[in-house]
Amino acid sequence: MKSTEEVRAIVEALKELYPDGICSLDYEKDYELLFSVRLAAQCTDERVNKVTPALFARFPTLEALANADISEVEQYIHSTGFFRAKARDIVLASQMLLSEYGGKVPGTMEDLLKLPGVGRKTANLMLGDVFHVPGVVVADTHCIRITGLLGLTDGSKDPTKVEMQLRKVLPPEESNDFCHRLVFHGRAVCIARRPQCGECVLRPWCDYFSKNVAEPAKD
Ligand code: SF4
Repeated sequence: MKSTEEVRAIVEALKELYPDGICSLDYEKDYELLFSVRLAAQCTDERVNKVTPALFARFPTLEALANADISEVEQYIHSTGFFRAKARDIVLASQMLLSEYGGKVPGTMEDLLKLPGVGRKTANLMLGDVFHVPGVVVADTHCIRITGLLGLTDGSKDPTKVEMQLRKVLPPEESNDFCHRLVFHGRAVCIARRPQCGECVLRPWCDYFSKNVAEPAKD
């Protein structure tokens, strides 16, 4: 269990390293972020950013997406994987946004979770990035892995458990940006299967480092 001071030190160290705690998906409209996050499931943000300009140029409004032929949407997003489910979710969610929410992305967890293809991770990201709700935690693969290594969680791989554990320890006003910074850190330093601990500013507070790198376990 980390002390409040240790958690704060981790948060501040990442903030210093990555001043811009922002989402790496490109978007202009709120619903574009929603659909970009859907497309990013099992895909990289980089790949998603390559396909969304053409998708949103072909279907420039929520109405256009709601009336789109799903098979045509599939063609635009094919390279992101799971394209059939993603295309269906985008079109159905567009229809629901128009019919139930006046064409606006809703601002509560409860309503967001009603949208096709939207789970807690996506809902948290929308609440944090669009509505600036404090305390949200986007428990994606980087967040789950790195906070487990650090010892901010019990090492659970369950996104909801990780979210709940982090909600208890992170400063609410920092939690959303902190999660974005973990993505940067997971790509640049704490890389899956080959964390670059020697170059990591989080070493002083990292359980993995203290147990496995600073003093390697004996055989
Ligand atoms: Fe990851 Fe190593 Fe940094 Fe810990 S010290 S956060 S394991 S890179």
